[in-house]
Amino acid sequence: MGSMTYSSTRGDSTEVSLSEAIARGLAPDGGLYVPRQLPRIDRAALDAGRGLPALARVALRGFFDGDRLQARLGEIADAALDVPAPTTAIEASPDPLYALELYHGPTAAFKDFGARFLAESLERMRTPQEERLTILVATSGDTGGAVAAAFHRRPWVRVVILYPKGLVSPRQEQQLTCWGENVESLRVAGTFDDCQRLVKEAFVDPALGRRHRFSSANSINVGRLLPQMVYYVASSLQIERATGRPANYVIPAGNLGNAFAAVWARELGLPIERIVLAHNANRTVPDYLATGEWRPRPSIATLASAMDVGNPSNMERLRALYPDVAALRSRITADSIDDAAIRERIIADHRRLGRVWCPHTAAAAESYARLPASERSGRPWVLVATAHPAKFNEIVEPLVGSPIDVPESLARLLRLPRRVTDIAPTLGALADAIA
Ligand SMILES: *Cc1c(COP(=O)(O)O)cnc(C)c1O
Repeated sequence: MGSMTYSSTRGDSTEVSLSEAIARGLAPDGGLYVPRQLPRIDRAALDAGRGLPALARVALRGFFDGDRLQARLGEIADAALDVPAPTTAIEASPDPLYALELYHGPTAAFKDFGARFLAESLERMRTPQEERLTILVATSGDTGGAVAAAFHRRPWVRVVILYPKGLVSPRQEQQLTCWGENVESLRVAGTFDDCQRLVKEAFVDPALGRRHRFSSANSINVGRLLPQMVYYVASSLQIERATGRPANYVIPAGNLGNAFAAVWARELGLPIERIVLAHNANRTVPDYLATGEWRPRPSIATLASAMDVGNPSNMERLRALYPDVAALRSRITADSIDDAAIRERIIADHRRLGRVWCPHTAAAAESYARLPASERSGRPWVLVATAHPAKFNEIVEPLVGSPIDVPESLARLLRLPRRVTDIAPTLGALADAIA
């Protein structure tokens, strides 16, 4: 076996190891790291595996090949993926329908998987004399909380969270601001796109670069994508065993990190057939597939706020994999679901299926409901449930007409005091806040 190397989506042909790609986050030319080629996967070993840590050892082995973390993959998987991700049957559905529940982690959203895996990886890459790392994280709601939870009380790292003022749910905001110690929260007078831009600017700013050793924990980091593949491995194998057919996924999509992990899992040869991206009113990707023109735009605030992204970063990885739009169209489809349809879907599926969705998952459920009946019948479809509805109680409870039980891990965070600093959406303001 050779070693796996990673290079930028933007044409800089420098190849780096996995741990370097993880440490840097973004490639020097501003592109995203992708493996030089996708590794082969040992299907027989996968079929024998059960549980995320065991499956991660097999599915991710090739990605770690030759890296200094290679021998630690097992430990990293054990520590980071000790979170259930069940694929549960939705019995009340007339067609075969399942939910992949990704909200059983400490902050009740799928981003816990990536953040925890990244934290465990970075911790094992450190040398004792290394300078403290500063992780800058722009968040539209859930990333910041997941990263904070994953890195809290690891003294070798400082976490700085940037989130858009007034554009995250009250409980999300609580999860972004309740940490203290090595975690700081900056509330930016702007949108998520402003937060993401500030992080990108800080990364390439020479003066800031001399003062801080930056790293990113956003979904652009390859260390977050890898573990997200693992729940698609587990879920698709389970569906195939149960139904004899490949799984089909509808995935709530914003920056496309979660969806891209599903695409990679399918490329590795896992039994996955269709992948449908459910966007909210931020329709950059659906419009691109329809017109062939890539037109990023400012984000629009919606009920599914963690998907309010007008310029999805991981599109670069998708286009690196499928360079022309026709190829991309044959591999994924994408919908745009507006707030009214999200609301109606939460009401309808509560009544019809007895399930309560968060607004993001509801976009996926609506996208599924819009499929032609012929595509739903006989095919196992899986709705990817990206967050627990209790995180969005102020939206969901009035629609279903009853209180939602709060998972204990979330309840504990809701009791902590908040600490936050307000900043303007400028690099100068960010530089002052982290000076
Ligand atoms: C982040 C997030 C999404 C969007 O995921 P991407 O990887 O950015 O596409 C969807 N739902 C929830 C609950 C999220 O937190």
